[in-house]
Amino acid sequence: MTRRPWARRSSVTAVSVAALAALAVQTAPAVQAADGTPTTPARSVASATATAAKVDYATWQKDCQAVMDQALPYLKQRIAAARPGEKQAIVFDIDNTTLETDFGFSYPQPANRPVLDAARYAQEHGVSLFFVTARPGVLYWPTEYNLEHDGYEVSGLYVRGLTDLFKDVAAYKTAQRVGIENAGYTIIANIGNNATDLSGGHAEKTFKLPDYDGQLS
Ligand SMILES: [Mg+2]
Repeated sequence: MTRRPWARRSSVTAVSVAALAALAVQTAPAVQAADGTPTTPARSVASATATAAKVDYATWQKDCQAVMDQALPYLKQRIAAARPGEKQAIVFDIDNTTLETDFGFSYPQPANRPVLDAARYAQEHGVSLFFVTARPGVLYWPTEYNLEHDGYEVSGLYVRGLTDLFKDVAAYKTAQRVGIENAGYTIIANIGNNATDLSGGHAEKTFKLPDYDGQLS
């Protein structure tokens, strides 16, 4: 299969540090066996990534599903109770929240299925989805493409600009939620997997997916 240069570039840039570390393992120079025969490291990208995350995929999915089993009934009730003229919104983190960042090494990255299921329900019921990420601005287009490719309807995507890169992540993310509220939206839920996604208020309810003590970005 011939791939366009930009697609190759995207496939390298739109991955997490953990995945890049896995790539380094995969592309490490061949080592020599005892008899002098060159051999390649046996670890696959997938296993190296899973090792970096220190949690297996099935466990992660089960843990995410447990959280979204709480979130979805709340969203259904809250959406049904929308006030007249209310513009409802949900704010999502991206890495290891809406996308399987540390568990997939492809581009586009697959959606985190339990979160996509809830997002789909919300967007089909008139809720706007906003994505607030610490990813740098250079990743805006590949990230937006990835989200929409997976089935998320993106009403807004906020990446970090040059000046934001030096700000505290929680403060940066909170400021984006304030901006969304100032645009007239009611943020009925904020869903992320790190404490810095969720602290700072400006959401009626927060849902915390696992980060396993900071191992998942
Ligand atoms: Mg995250």
